[in-house]
Amino acid sequence: MQYKQRTTNNEQRTTNNEQRTTNLNLTDTHTHLYSEEFDQDRDEMIQRAINSGVSRFFVPAIDSNYTPKMYDLAQQYPENVFLMMGLHPTYVKENYLEELAHVERELASKKFYAVGEIGIDLFWDQTFLKEQQQAFKYQIQLAKKHQLGINIHCRDAFDEVFEVLESEKAVDLFGIFHCFTGDLDQAQRAISLGMKLGIGGVATFKNGKIDQFLHEIDLQHLVLETDSPYLAPVPHRGKRNESSYTLLVAQKLAEIYGLSVAEIAAITTENSKQIFGI
Ligand SMILES: [Zn+2]
Repeated sequence: MQYKQRTTNNEQRTTNNEQRTTNLNLTDTHTHLYSEEFDQDRDEMIQRAINSGVSRFFVPAIDSNYTPKMYDLAQQYPENVFLMMGLHPTYVKENYLEELAHVERELASKKFYAVGEIGIDLFWDQTFLKEQQQAFKYQIQLAKKHQLGINIHCRDAFDEVFEVLESEKAVDLFGIFHCFTGDLDQAQRAISLGMKLGIGGVATFKNGKIDQFLHEIDLQHLVLETDSPYLAPVPHRGKRNESSYTLLVAQKLAEIYGLSVAEIAAITTENSKQIFGI
């Protein structure tokens, strides 16, 4: 009730949108709802997404600093917010063993829907490559132990990520290659290793490349995401991203596959259920 009042303006502004998309059931499979970027208007932003037909938010972890904020959100939105647990590769530093112990402890004590985001990032810093590889492998093993999927972050590190995935390849290895930016060969390789491809704002970029070959990939392998507050789709490129823009990604896929937005929403949400079990 309380936040209904606070979002009155938003609801008025999105009335058309709401009518048009009322039956949509979109899933944002990767959104950092707890980010400081949303501290001023988090509830309005979440309500805006729900009004746009995005009612399921899967929230990846970064490091232990964010854990309390994540738990608060899940408590506040029990029907919409679903948490992952993991250590983000760019946060693998000197203290990474303590951080991994935190991940392990939380996984053992609470329900999560995936282990993520985990992987390798060589764009920002290569100092801890060895530790990143170890942390990635270890967290894949934790995912298997808890029968969860993984959510992979890969930046400038396709060879390194595939090396670890190959070494852990098994029927119980599955998940999402988040913010997929590779080529067709890499897409097929990821799929053969049990992964779905997380498609977000990059698919709407003129130089994003993946829109060139996506039509060659069956829709059953795709899920939608925003990676909010990063990587906003066109026409918001360069600005703050938010989960309501999942709709823009769905519209782009509708164009590429020649289907309606409602069909794209239904198929990709179904795909997300296969990974997250909900
Ligand atoms: Zn992320």
